[in-house]
Amino acid sequence: MSIKIEIFLAYKDNFGYLLHDEESGASALIDAGDEKAILAALKRTGWELTDIFITHHHLDHTDAIASLKKKFNVKVTSSLAEGDKIPLSDRKVSAGEKINFAGHEFYVINLRGHTNGHIGYYNEKEGLLFTGDALFSLGCGRMFEGTAEIMWRDLAALRELPDNILVYCGHEYSLANAQFALSVDPHNEKLKKREQQIRNQLAAGKFTIPTNLGEEKALNPFLRADDPIIKANMGMENASPTKVFAALRKAKDNF
Ligand SMILES: [Zn+2]
Repeated sequence: MSIKIEIFLAYKDNFGYLLHDEESGASALIDAGDEKAILAALKRTGWELTDIFITHHHLDHTDAIASLKKKFNVKVTSSLAEGDKIPLSDRKVSAGEKINFAGHEFYVINLRGHTNGHIGYYNEKEGLLFTGDALFSLGCGRMFEGTAEIMWRDLAALRELPDNILVYCGHEYSLANAQFALSVDPHNEKLKKREQQIRNQLAAGKFTIPTNLGEEKALNPFLRADDPIIKANMGMENASPTKVFAALRKAKDNF
């Protein structure tokens, strides 16, 4: 049976995700920041929390771990590379490991750069990808800890995954990201359509998530640092993808 997913807003613009396996009754949170929003989602769904999968150490993704561990019999999984920055972890994992949630397999993948040990979770069978603050819809996270080389390499590796994957990211930044994407790819009709779709979704009070990985590969400038169109628009025809990625990230920081 497929995994049910409850999406909810946490804090101002964080996304919370509750995964549920009907047969076993198990439920998993992807990241655990805003306890109030998490408890409301659990109450609304009636699901019992059994697992927490953490993408990276930032407080808006980890702040509720301690209190949720007191309230529920919950197992916390986090990145080995983030070390002690993520407290109370029961299981530390690294890229390439396969982890099990109620019979559903998730691959741990490296998504470094926003933080040095940032990971994502990928379920191949159902085509689900949880990217935390590494990849957003039409954007990527700020490069707080890593280098452009590492961040570009990990993001570019996502392009090896199939197109028909649903991407669930850590924040509702889609509109600002669409505007930046258009600034470096102004004649892209599909991108213009996507921006309008995002505007419509937000105006209707809907989430712009999940996004589709195939669409991200085609439209997200941070997955296209080696695309001749992006390189030309950046005036960097002969630069390496890493340099183009670094320039894109810097431009977005100042956008
Ligand atoms: Zn973060």
